[in-house]
Amino acid sequence: RLKEGRALAEDVWSIYNVANLPADCINLGQGYMNFPPPKWVTEAANLALQEVAPNHYSHPKGRMRLRQAIKNHYGPQFNRDLDVESEILVTSGANEGMYSVLVAFLEQGDEVIMFEPFFDQYLPSITFNGGKPIYVPLHPPTGHGTTTSNDWSIDLVELRNAITPRTKMIIVNTPHNPVGKVFTLEELQGIAALAEEFNLIVMSDEVYDILTFDGKEHIRIATLPGMWDRTVTVGSAGKAFAATGWRVGWLIGPPSIIRPTLAATTRIVFCTNSPLQEAAAAGIEQAEQRDYFATQRAEYAERRAILTEAFDKLGLTYTLPYGSYFILLDISNVKFPDDYPFPPSVLDRGRDFRACWFIALEIGVSSIPVSEFYCEEHANIGEAYARFAFCKDTDTLRRAAERLQGLR
Ligand code: GLN
Repeated sequence: RLKEGRALAEDVWSIYNVANLPADCINLGQGYMNFPPPKWVTEAANLALQEVAPNHYSHPKGRMRLRQAIKNHYGPQFNRDLDVESEILVTSGANEGMYSVLVAFLEQGDEVIMFEPFFDQYLPSITFNGGKPIYVPLHPPTGHGTTTSNDWSIDLVELRNAITPRTKMIIVNTPHNPVGKVFTLEELQGIAALAEEFNLIVMSDEVYDILTFDGKEHIRIATLPGMWDRTVTVGSAGKAFAATGWRVGWLIGPPSIIRPTLAATTRIVFCTNSPLQEAAAAGIEQAEQRDYFATQRAEYAERRAILTEAFDKLGLTYTLPYGSYFILLDISNVKFPDDYPFPPSVLDRGRDFRACWFIALEIGVSSIPVSEFYCEEHANIGEAYARFAFCKDTDTLRRAAERLQGLR
């Protein structure tokens, strides 16, 4: 069924994978950490491996210890006494959870609205399940110079106009990948009002929930009046505990969404790997007493500053992210020779794919071309940007900042 188009093309994460880049290239591309998970979390994984039960299938809903930890830690954030049987589902990474929601709810031709740019996985996840993606722009800031992620704006009239009788769902992503936007209460209220008026499901990808800066507050759309019953919220142990390879995530939502999604996830993966669910549970259980998330937030703010200060010094234009761990750098002025030996997968795509390849090989810092986060029709908007991930230790970021002087 996948004969042509981007669905079959090599994905951006594979193209700019460290495996394809010189060994000494500093990897600020795919968003994963170069530091280990906390010791008290990996110790729980080691312990789990010594026992019998956590080496075997867990219940498809997830291991009880993890569901219980999610209930205790996240329930208050939703102002709810979450039911571990019907309102929480552990998934094999946030991505598989979102995929399963789409499997459960999309009928052929159903439309799913997302703000563009969007995290690239949403697009094939929608189309593989017979859905039709509908794009509502996050308008880039106009004018020159450095701006903030929240200068990327939504227009609620455009959102309303995008809704048709076939619209089933809106995907919200806050803090946003790749822009870093932290949606405001007013924006979320506007989205929520339309979801109510047109009876839509909201899938809210909040995997960067703890990473907000400059006093910006992460707001869960599920907590707005009337929204619990139509919203599924997505979380990630990989992001929370610097363990993206674990593939442990979770969904929180009403039984009307969790039950069908459980049926889908059971048939796709049956269950999520058990020992690392134990580790995620230990992480969540102890996070508060160790002040872990607040510490993370402060550390990420420091990491962000290393790159933004370097960009400021160089006079480069970027989007200051209020959330997530990504910075968009304006690369429209980066020059490179047309006859540079680009691989075919890069040559096939937009200018930003070539610029990012050139920067990775010649400057020695990898990043992700942002046209990947746009549909083919609007890819030209994304070609102006490269996304740099700052989920790295400060030494690495300082070395990257040093090298990026070559962009001047
Ligand atoms: N969420 C991560 C990023 O945006 C990784 C995505 C992926 O590998 N599919 O970098």
